[in-house]
Amino acid sequence: MARLTQADLIELNRTFDERTPQELIQWAHGVFGNRLATISAMQKSGSVVCHMLSRLNLGINVLFVDTGVMFQETLDTRDRIAAEYDLNVVSLTAEKSMEEQTQELGVLYLTPEGQEQCCHLRKVEPLQTVKNDYDALIGSLRRSDGGKRAQCPILSIDIEMNCVRINPLANFDDESMKAYIAEHKVITNPLHEQGYATIGCNRCTTPVLPTEPKRAGRWRHLGQWAMYCGINPTDMDPASTPAIELPDDLVDRILGRETDFMI
Ligand code: SF4
Repeated sequence: MARLTQADLIELNRTFDERTPQELIQWAHGVFGNRLATISAMQKSGSVVCHMLSRLNLGINVLFVDTGVMFQETLDTRDRIAAEYDLNVVSLTAEKSMEEQTQELGVLYLTPEGQEQCCHLRKVEPLQTVKNDYDALIGSLRRSDGGKRAQCPILSIDIEMNCVRINPLANFDDESMKAYIAEHKVITNPLHEQGYATIGCNRCTTPVLPTEPKRAGRWRHLGQWAMYCGINPTDMDPASTPAIELPDDLVDRILGRETDFMI
């Protein structure tokens, strides 16, 4: 096994800034093959990635973390995308239902510490159940969303999942998104039309005013506007020595090193 750090990806990230989202998805499929999946929360940018996957027809699975307290509109969007884009959407669920969790631990999402625990139990842990199945996950973070995502790299390492994260839409600005969705009539979550700029669990998401930041509707009851659930490692503060371990030949393929030379 070989170590891969964020520093190893600096040069590749620089080169990848020039590539289209579709080229980046194709690169990822070429390098990771069937050890690659996409993670989508069935928000607008996730829908765009799913549409691109459908057009590219590479057989890449889509992972959807179902916390058990999603909006019905989100579940309907998931089902429409699976059926109409002919994608294999795999729903990952928490070990306990929200009712069981509440009976045992109380209503966690009413305090900042409880929110962290609840998001870990209902979002991070379900994703970790597929930790050994994939070496890379495609996400849909965009720098245009601001906050911690304003500097989001296209390629990053995910220590918890021991995999590479790829965000092919990192450079896709709001105008490009709007144009792509209109041109391809992309299936999007209807809640966006009702003022929800971003969409998470029904317990912790509200619409936002036009003058508010996009993420103002997330955990509004906790009084902070820049919170994240922890499922995307680039939203969080990095560990002191971030590194993942992958097979030697895979690290060579990621970094574009030649390995099939003759003596
Ligand atoms: S968004 Fe709220 S309800 Fe959903 S997992 Fe996090 S704290 Fe729990």
